[in-house]
Amino acid sequence: MRVDLAYEHSVRAAAMVFVRSLAAAGGGTVTRGQLQQFAYLGEPIKLLDTGRGIRNPRQLVATLTILTSAGSRYDDTPGPEGLLRYAIRDGELGQGDNRKLRAAFELALPIIWFHGVRDGVFVPLMPVFLAAEEAATKRYVVALDEDQLLMAPQLLTSSPIEGALGQALAQRRYVERMSRQRLHQPVFRAGVLLAYRTRCAVCSLTHGGLLDAAHITEDAADGGDPVTSNGLALCKIHHAAYDQDILGISPERVVHINRDVLEERDGPMLQHGLQEFHGTALRVIPERRAEQPDPDRLAQRFARFRNAS
Ligand SMILES: [Zn+2]
Repeated sequence: MRVDLAYEHSVRAAAMVFVRSLAAAGGGTVTRGQLQQFAYLGEPIKLLDTGRGIRNPRQLVATLTILTSAGSRYDDTPGPEGLLRYAIRDGELGQGDNRKLRAAFELALPIIWFHGVRDGVFVPLMPVFLAAEEAATKRYVVALDEDQLLMAPQLLTSSPIEGALGQALAQRRYVERMSRQRLHQPVFRAGVLLAYRTRCAVCSLTHGGLLDAAHITEDAADGGDPVTSNGLALCKIHHAAYDQDILGISPERVVHINRDVLEERDGPMLQHGLQEFHGTALRVIPERRAEQPDPDRLAQRFARFRNAS
């Protein structure tokens, strides 16, 4: 079969422009409904398949998008070298629906990876590449950019040569940092903002551009466990105040303001923005219990605030 690589790349580039503009307008997320609106040169091409983890448009020789649902039971955990994995959902590698997945791997074609944060709501990651096949676990090694694609063969051949251990560790740290920035942080942010209905937990500000997903407990080494129950949606001022222990949140979800700051006299921002929240309950709490702030994490963090004030 002759492969029209120019066409394969053009459709992918157009799909990525389309998805990027949706994500930019949607605070980093796209919905299933929006993704059904894509067309290339007037021809509709669906970007998601119902009930399948991969999307293989008939017009293309290779898979266009892959999907990891929210709370997925599939084994997508990274390998020992830090590169991400995508496990096939059904069948065998290179067979049936998975033939086009293998083609995307063999032709090193860019694909879009959708990560579910809710039913029908996704954080897109693109372009990604399938860097290697793992037959035993029916998984693909996923490269998050062309650099990782080029580095992958070297990263995947274990046992670094003598004297190169330092280099191998540095590469692994680089790969992990990249996964954090490109995947875990955007998925964490989207999950937290959705759970808090795009409002600051302290003051209920709704302006998405002024909201952050703050970590309750921050592990200096890995930037904090990226689960929603370790998050709080906070506006910029309350996030900064929380990080500097000017504002604390007790395990009972009550806001405390540092004693020195309570006694300061400044202006309306200090008064209305911070002092007046002292002793008030959090105004926004996620509806789902599993997404609510973890009391143990709040307690641990609140002890730090107590020590500082
Ligand atoms: Zn706020």
